[in-house]
Amino acid sequence: MLITEKTQLLGIIGNPIQHSLSPVIQNQAIATLNLDYIYLPFLVKEDDLSKAFDCFKAIKLRGFNVTIPHKKNVIPFLKKVTETAEIIEAVNVVWLTEEGWHGTNTDIDGFLASFKKLSKDWHNITPLILGNGGGGRAVTVGCSKLGCREIKIVGRNLYKLRAFQERWNNYSFATKISIYHWDNLSELIPDSELIINATPIGMSPHIKNSPLTDLQISLIKQNTIVYDLIYTPSPTLFLQQAQKQGAIIIDGSEMLIQQGAIAFEIWTGKSAPIDIMLNSMLSKS
Ligand code: NAP
Repeated sequence: MLITEKTQLLGIIGNPIQHSLSPVIQNQAIATLNLDYIYLPFLVKEDDLSKAFDCFKAIKLRGFNVTIPHKKNVIPFLKKVTETAEIIEAVNVVWLTEEGWHGTNTDIDGFLASFKKLSKDWHNITPLILGNGGGGRAVTVGCSKLGCREIKIVGRNLYKLRAFQERWNNYSFATKISIYHWDNLSELIPDSELIINATPIGMSPHIKNSPLTDLQISLIKQNTIVYDLIYTPSPTLFLQQAQKQGAIIIDGSEMLIQQGAIAFEIWTGKSAPIDIMLNSMLSKS
């Protein structure tokens, strides 16, 4: 499709942004359906968010994805936010309407896509989530939707964790949240049947990093499900280490595709070609 003044603009904002495969999968979906859109990566620094919104309004950007570290900070710029995205203070999809920007969170359904297929007694599984940023909070809702009775969240900032726990307790989630400082991680690993990395530790270009030390890796039980939200590299060092330990590993690829497919449908009103999006991602990673 020829790019003209009528071509509608979509994109993704983040910092860093070079790791993102969203431009690959979204532009492939656009090309497959022969739509007059283009999807671009925008490096937006934390302090430049306001300027970015002004710019997007001026050029009538139709919609965009939001990635690390902006998922919470975009909310004050939005006219309307879906309830769950508001509760967890994490928006990953924004679109322009006549009254202004609207936002939602499609990471939750993206995460659930990988897990709904596994037949597990989720009620009796207590996930251990590392990190409590936008992705971690979406995954917390996802685990609650799976039916987990309790979720353990580990972070390096207890103040932020407490604020999230208080917020969570104000809403009618059936799931209990327990919070722990990163220093207590080693004690939590042996009892965990599902460990989820929702930090950027190990993400490209820092591919030699892992959220767990070698000693902590050795505490992972066989057949533990170890999930990493990161999809570049795939698998991360963390997943490779966990696999050697006998864990069942899952990376963030399906989450990326599924959250992106819902976003595509919001922006274009067309059904997303999921298999083609997945193949385009696999050929690039
Ligand atoms: P975010 O909002 O910036 O949150 C990052 C979280 O990681 C925060 O809780 C942060 O703690 C913690 N953290 C960062 N560095 C740490 C360290 N060295 N030690 C301990 N904790 C650390 O980012 P996000 O949007 O949640 O993204 C997190 C990762 O998930 C990224 O790699 C992102 O690409 C990935 N992700 C993937 C998908 C997908 O579709 N597959 C979707 C969402 C996210 P503080 O709060 O203390 O800073």
